[in-house]
Amino acid sequence: MADQKKHAGNLSLLGGRPCLDFINTLNWRGRKRPTEFLQTYTDLIAWSQHVGTLSRQAVRRVTQKSKSQRSKQARALKRAIYLRETLYRIFSSLADGKAAANKDLETFNQFFSKTMKNSKIVKIPHGYKWDLEEDPANLEWILSPLIRSAADLLVSKELKRVKKCGDPACGWLFLDTSRNCSRRWCNMSDCGNRAKASRFYKKKTGKRK
Ligand SMILES: [Zn+2]
Repeated sequence: MADQKKHAGNLSLLGGRPCLDFINTLNWRGRKRPTEFLQTYTDLIAWSQHVGTLSRQAVRRVTQKSKSQRSKQARALKRAIYLRETLYRIFSSLADGKAAANKDLETFNQFFSKTMKNSKIVKIPHGYKWDLEEDPANLEWILSPLIRSAADLLVSKELKRVKKCGDPACGWLFLDTSRNCSRRWCNMSDCGNRAKASRFYKKKTGKRK
C-alpha cells in the first residue's frame, strides 16, 4: 500500500477482519525499513476508532483516562506492538500453509485469557452476543476487541482464506472472500498494478535482447 498522506486514522482497511487490519498497521514488512503507523498510543486510539473497534464515546473515555499518563501509554503501545507481531507470525504461518509456532500461540493465549475475563454474553433483540466490559483505566483494554477478532478468526472456517499480498515487500494480510479464492493482492489498484507494470517492463526489456 502507498503510504503518502496515510496515517493511523485513515489507513486503508483491506484485511477484511479487524485483527488482520491491525497486522497491516506495519507496512512494507519486506523492506529494510517498514512503515510504522502506530507511533503513539494516540495513534492506536485513532486507528481503533477508524477500524470500528472503539465507539466515539469509548474513544472519549479512553482519551480522558489515558491523558498525561505517558509511561502507561508507552507500555500499552509496546504491548500492542507485541500482540500485533505475534498475530502477524501466527497468521503469516497459516497463510503459508504452516502451523503457528507454539510459543506464539502461548503468547496469544495469555492475551486471550485476560480478554475473556472482561467478556460477557448480553441479550440482543433476536438472541445473544459476545460483549466486552469496558475498562478504560487499563490502557491495554482497547486491544481486547482485536484479540477477540483474532480468536474468532482462528476457530472459524474462514481461516483457510487468510492470505498474504502477492508482493512480498508489502507484507499485508487479508481475508480472501472471492468466490474462487483467487485474490492475490491486498489492493489491485496498488500492489496489483505495480506487479503488472513490472511484468510489462520485464517483457518489454526482454524483447530488446
Ligand atoms: Zn499489498
